[in-house]
Amino acid sequence: MSERLDDLLAFLGEATSPFHAVTALSRRLQDAGFTAVEHLDGMSFEAGQGYFVTANDSSIVAFRAGSGRCEEGLRMIGAHTDSPNLSVKPNPLKQRSGTQQLAVDVYGGALLNPWFDRDLSLAGRVSFVNSTGDLASRLIDFRRPIAIIPSLAIHLDREANKNRSINPQTDILPLIAGLPTDEGSSLNWGQFLADQLGAQYPEEGAVRILDFELSLYDCQPPGLVGIDEAFLASARLDNLLSCHAGLTALLAADPAQWSLLVCNDHEEVGSTSAVGAQGPMLVDVLNSITGTAAASRRLRERSKMLSVDNAHAVHPNFSDRHDEAHGPLLNQGPVVKINRNQRYATSGEGSALLRLLAERAEVPLQHFVVRSDMGCGSTIGPITAAETGITTIDLGVPTLAMHSIRELAGTADIDYLGLLLTAFYNRVA
Ligand code: ZN
Repeated sequence: MSERLDDLLAFLGEATSPFHAVTALSRRLQDAGFTAVEHLDGMSFEAGQGYFVTANDSSIVAFRAGSGRCEEGLRMIGAHTDSPNLSVKPNPLKQRSGTQQLAVDVYGGALLNPWFDRDLSLAGRVSFVNSTGDLASRLIDFRRPIAIIPSLAIHLDREANKNRSINPQTDILPLIAGLPTDEGSSLNWGQFLADQLGAQYPEEGAVRILDFELSLYDCQPPGLVGIDEAFLASARLDNLLSCHAGLTALLAADPAQWSLLVCNDHEEVGSTSAVGAQGPMLVDVLNSITGTAAASRRLRERSKMLSVDNAHAVHPNFSDRHDEAHGPLLNQGPVVKINRNQRYATSGEGSALLRLLAERAEVPLQHFVVRSDMGCGSTIGPITAAETGITTIDLGVPTLAMHSIRELAGTADIDYLGLLLTAFYNRVA
């Protein structure tokens, strides 16, 4: 297994929520000598040194200062930290049929069927008042199975294999407890979270939980599948795979070049938020790097961004869902995503640049265009391009089961993407 793939497996296991993804990215950046910065304004940047800022603990921008003037243009890679999931509602506890259940909301366009019969855990951020009366927040992750959504048996729904639909309000509430207790069977949710916080942060002392952003995740770790280990199966490949590829490329890139990585939260729900791709984070960083609005505009005009997000591979059982001339295959290289209606940002010139880059980096390249009779997904690409004016190209590894609780990518594509992104940062083309 390549070092990159090995670290990707570790990263996917650590990054159980967008907050944990940013923590895992930050740690790797710090280990590589990057400096965490609160505000960039007024700073001067040393050539070859790396810096990063985070927002809401769930979005991050990291960059390395090159030796030349940044106004000549930056090479940037963008990805997103969030994935579809089941998110816990503010008043979550429900008592039904002798069990304690959690009320959940569906975050993003989740494929719901695969959430049944999985050992689920819970991760995210809790906000609390501490023993000195101050408001604080910390990330928590139970890292053990504490919830499950059992299927309805086929004997009680004989049509299940034909057309079972799922009502997100009533059908997907996970069970989290079920044994009768002396105090009655009602769980104290606030205390339950406070106990986990206390176990992870004993120095916080007694706390009172005020609110939280928590989501469920599958406890099964990422793994390689296939007799030749051709497949990587994991939750959140869309889009943590790309966050990790961007990170490893940034760390491997020529330190004499200006290079930047932005990983935004909230892509799966449209990117319109303070820390999403439609928010001010990236432009604020570029304004701080250049010092003036005019210089920032010049930099953006001369910069290029790769928006890296997974692409739909042809599913062998459903191959008619692809245009036959534009159907990417697993393990045959990264995919340039093209949509003339601007659901993807790639222009003909951008796609040409990638063809040249891939040739020189000796990486195979594929192309995706959605069938003309089907709707097209989107990415942070068009939004980032619209907000910043930066020429943007949409690209990603071919993936099956996108938005399932367990997605599938090709192991060969991980290294191909890494090589291509490093070549992009190094301006091989
Ligand atoms: Zn995505």
